[in-house]
Amino acid sequence: MGGVRLVSCREFLELFLDDWLEGALPARRWRQCDRHLDLCVACAESAAAYRTTVRMLRRLGRTAGSEPLPEEMTRAILARSRTS
Ligand SMILES: [Zn+2]
Repeated sequence: MGGVRLVSCREFLELFLDDWLEGALPARRWRQCDRHLDLCVACAESAAAYRTTVRMLRRLGRTAGSEPLPEEMTRAILARSRTS
């Protein structure tokens, strides 16, 4: 096997989700994540929930620029979407 390697759920949620939302991933990585989201409903739902929250917070002006979400908030979102 060579070339494209699929990202795991853990990699996507912990390593790539922020950059994926920002559109900051390299093209190859972006395609890996898109493919993962096509195949994995759980991550697609987590990504949607996360994106909604990020937008809401930005609108409230709590996160300036590219400042990341507090880690505990990220965990809460992901934990909730995993169990629902
Ligand atoms: Zn997944």
